[in-house]
Parts: sequence; C-alpha cells; structure tokens
Amino acid sequence: MLVVMRQYAKAEEIEGVVRAIEARGFKAHPIPGEQRTAIGITGNRGAVDRPVFEGLPGVLEVIPVTHAYKLVSREVKREDTIVRVGDVPVGGRELVIAAGPCAVESLEQTLTVARGVKAGGARLLRGGAFKPRTSPYAFQGLGEEGLRILAAAREETGLPIVTEALDVESVDVVERYADAIQVGARNMQNFSLLKRCGKARKPVLLKRGLAATLEEFLMSAEYILAEGNYQVILCERGVRTFSDFSRNTLDLAVVPAAKRLSHLPILVDPSHGTGRRDMVAPLSRGAVAVGADGLIVEVHHDPDTALSDGPQSITPAAFAALVAELRQIAPVLGRAL
Ligand code: PEP
Ligand code: MN
Repeated sequence: MLVVMRQYAKAEEIEGVVRAIEARGFKAHPIPGEQRTAIGITGNRGAVDRPVFEGLPGVLEVIPVTHAYKLVSREVKREDTIVRVGDVPVGGRELVIAAGPCAVESLEQTLTVARGVKAGGARLLRGGAFKPRTSPYAFQGLGEEGLRILAAAREETGLPIVTEALDVESVDVVERYADAIQVGARNMQNFSLLKRCGKARKPVLLKRGLAATLEEFLMSAEYILAEGNYQVILCERGVRTFSDFSRNTLDLAVVPAAKRLSHLPILVDPSHGTGRRDMVAPLSRGAVAVGADGLIVEVHHDPDTALSDGPQSITPAAFAALVAELRQIAPVLGRAL
C-alpha cells in the first residue's frame, strides 16, 4: 500500500502518517518525489485499512501496490532514483563506468590499473578483495589487505570504490572501506546478506543471479530497501543458457524491462556477461544503446597473468578506446559521458 501525500503536505503531516503506520505495527518508508512525497507501507500481512489513512491530514490518496515488490517499484516512485557512490551520481543523465581488476592482487597491480582506468574515463574503481571463486583452490582474494589497497588507490586517483562483501561477516569491514558494497551473483538470494546490506550506510550494487528471473532480482533488491537502505544499483551480469559461445548470456533485454518496473538504476557487466575479452566492447556499446545507466568492466594491465578472470579482462588502452566510442554513442541517447 502506498500513501500519496498532497503536493504541499507539511512535514508534520508526513510525520503524522508515519506515526499512524507505525502505530499499527507496520513499517513506513517515506519516499520524497519531485512533486510530492509518497509513503510506502510494508510489514502488513493483510489489507491495510485504507479509509483510516485517507482521512489523515495532508493525504491525497491511498493506492494499492500490485507487484509483490513494493519499494523498488515504479508504482511507488515514478522518478528515476539517483544513487550516490562517493560523489558520483549513478542513474542520472550521466553514464557511469566502473572499471578495475576482477581481484585486488597487490598494491602495484591495483594502482597501475586504477591509474589506467582513471585516465581512460572510469568514474568508479572496481576490484574484489573477497572473491567468490568456483574452486576453493583458486585465489580467494586478499581480504582486508585488499580493502586497504583499494583505499590507497582511491586516495591517489579520487575514484570511489566498489567491492564485494561475500557474506554477512564481511559486510562490517567492507562497509568501512567501500563506497559501494557489491553483492555478487551467487549471493543474490542470500537473504541474510541482503538484510544486512539493508542496514548498511553505503549504497549496494546488486548483481543478478545466474538463473534469476527479473521478479526474483527485484525481490532481492526489495530485501535491501525494506531494511531502510534505498541506495541500490541493479547490475545485469549475464545468465546461464544453452548458448555455449560465451561464459554467460548477457540479457540486455532486462535493462528496459527493469527500467519499466523499477526506479532503480541499472548497470551492465559485459565482462562476466560474456567471459570474453573480444566481446566486452560490442556488448558495452549495446548496453548503452538499450538504456543502461552505465557499465562495470574488468580491466587488467596484464590480463594474461591476472589471478582471476584474465580471459575477460581488457587492457587500460582497450578500455580507453571503448570509452571514446561510448562518448560518441551517449549523446544520441540523450546521455552524457
Ligand atoms: C565480480 O564482479 O568479480 C564477480 C565475481 O561478479 P559476479 O558475482 O557477477 O560473478
Ligand atoms: Mn570477475
């Protein structure tokens, strides 16, 4: 249920509705919009007593939300959400490209790549300190040492950092260093992790699960918003299909579909989406063309020696060339880069 306030509703009136919602044991989520504030109600099992809320001062109307997900829905908030990662707005007119190594391997490697992607046009630095690897024998990441390295790279380049929290236990430390907490594809339905991220003070980059429907993806985002963290960026990173010429099948059609249903920004990850260096640029161009708010791209100065995801990593030079192309595409779509 959504309580829509009148255009010039006073702060006390909004506060009054919030109190009335909480008095019934529900949770209130005030969502300021360009025109008016709406207040989402969650935590109710059955129907909410509409007339009670309709009668409160400042209330324009009370409308049911038809989707199972509520707070992420465009029904609840018509305008696009802009999420701030450090000082970088994601979801506005400006496209945002996050780039960096799959894994933080050393200070030297991370600084080299960070300088390269900064020069090439990245606005955010990506890099995993805690890595979800298919094999327990593969490089698992440097842990907190990796986070310190990322912080050093941010200090030097000014690029805010996006890095993954693998489990509930690692959120505390990741939250201390990161500008955005990444929840990986394998964790998209790790509900305790989602709830913990919902209590975090940092934005969350939520990757789509390998076999997740759009509805499941949005429900996972809903877990984070329901706990009070409205700063969520969706990320399409490819799903499993029968198609065998790429690591995953990048589902670019999900971008306009997600944008229609949700106000949250969405990035595309062409690196995990294809698993192939030669496909990163073409799919990046496609992602921008279908309306993504930006990209997250794996870059390594020496991909063939990378400790993880070398085959899908592009060089800083290839990254710069890609950004130059995207700068030509962006204006056609009314976007800037
Ligand atoms: C990553 O970004 O390096 C990563 C592990 O991504 P995903 O969770 O999409 O596989
Ligand atoms: Mn990777």
